[in-house]
Order: sequence, then structure tokens, then C-alpha cells
Amino acid sequence: MNRNASRLISVVTGFLFPRQCAGCQGAVARGWWCPECRQKLVPIREPRCECCSHPFEGVLSGKFLCPNCEGRTFHFESAVAVMSSRGVVRELIHGLKYHSMAWAARPLGEMGFNGLCDPRLGDVPDVLVPVPLHPLRRRERGYNQSQLLAREMGRRSRIPVAGLLRRVRNTPTQTHFDRARRMKNLKRAFVVASGMGERVRGANVLLVDDVVTTGSTFDECARTLLEAGADRVSALAIGRG
Ligand SMILES: [Zn+2]
Ligand SMILES: [Zn+2]
Repeated sequence: MNRNASRLISVVTGFLFPRQCAGCQGAVARGWWCPECRQKLVPIREPRCECCSHPFEGVLSGKFLCPNCEGRTFHFESAVAVMSSRGVVRELIHGLKYHSMAWAARPLGEMGFNGLCDPRLGDVPDVLVPVPLHPLRRRERGYNQSQLLAREMGRRSRIPVAGLLRRVRNTPTQTHFDRARRMKNLKRAFVVASGMGERVRGANVLLVDDVVTTGSTFDECARTLLEAGADRVSALAIGRG
């Protein structure tokens, strides 16, 4: 079977038979998780970095900034990460990005939807904006995983989703870069998509991405939107890398 056919089958079966556990593929009566897999999910709770959701092990009261955010000014208000990116969450995100598991955007998007009630996000946003992929990478992957996640969140919350940003630089994968390198690498990587200027002006935007690590991608997106007249930008990622 060629790659496209198996991709199509995995996409179609994922959408047709969602009554399988998203973690172990065992049968489930409802929802996305069997009791065992649900128990292994690790939501990010307090205490965690006020700005980027980096979790802090131990007991801490009051607001806390991690070493990555301390002394740094971001253009977004805060970046909420819903889940710790390990175990099944990590596998689903990996599958969504690298193994054509488009269906994984549904359980992951549900997590993103649950994250919308985080008090750090403030008022309900006017629009959900997926972090864009460069067109070349999007073509390679067949979809933008962040757009699928934003759509699932939009479907559940009824908040509109709009591709207000376009990625104009195809930056190499950043996984192994340190913070300074990432920031340099991302400089001017995004622009407001053509015809979207009017929608950006005055908008309260929530950026959506699969994973947040140093916050540099969100920051560059937020900077682009604020420069184009957005009123406020926050960010939400499903996983904390
Ligand atoms: Zn399971
Ligand atoms: Zn932080």
C-alpha cells in the first residue's frame, strides 16, 4: 500500500471510529480515554510559571516565573500549556506532526478547549489563530497541526478560527536550539496574512500551537500581531515541551 493510501485510511478510520482509547486503542464507552490512560495524563497545575506554564516541582505559593521567563518581556500576555508533554500526550502530538495522525487533533483539541478556562487567559478571545507553518512544510505534512487543533477548539467553544498569520521564513527545526538561537532564527518569520489586516486591528487574539518550549514562536507571532494593531495576544499550547 502506498503512503498516501495508508495515510488516508488512518485518517478515515480515526474519524469514523473514535470509540477507541486515544492512548492504547482499547475500547472505550465514551470520550477519548480508557480509565488507565486517563490516569496517566499529566495536566499542568499550580505551581507553574505564570508566563510560560513551566511546571515547578514542589510547594510554592504566589506567582512564580521560571528561569526562562525571569527578566524577559514577552509580547503575549501569558502562554498557557495544558498538559505535560509526556506519555500518551507526547505520542499523540508526535503522531499528529510526523505520522499523519490527523485524528489526534480531536483528543488534543479537547484538551486545548479545556485549557480555555485558564484564568491567565483573561476575557474570551475574539479569535483563535493557529501558529502557521511555512507553505513548504505544510505541503509536506498535508495539514497544519495547529490549525486542526484550533478548529477543534473552535468547534467546541464557538470561538471563530482565522489564519491571520502567514509564515514567510522556513526556519529549520528548532528542537535542539538554545533560546538565543531560536529567537534569532524566528526574527521576522511571520507576517499578517493578506487581507487580514482589518481583522487583526483591535482584536483579542489567542494563538494556538501544539507545543510551547521557550515561548519564542508565540512571542514572534504576538509581536507581529501587536505591530499590526491587535489589542491583546495570549497563547495556548496543548503540551509543554
Ligand atoms: Zn487507554
Ligand atoms: Zn516561564
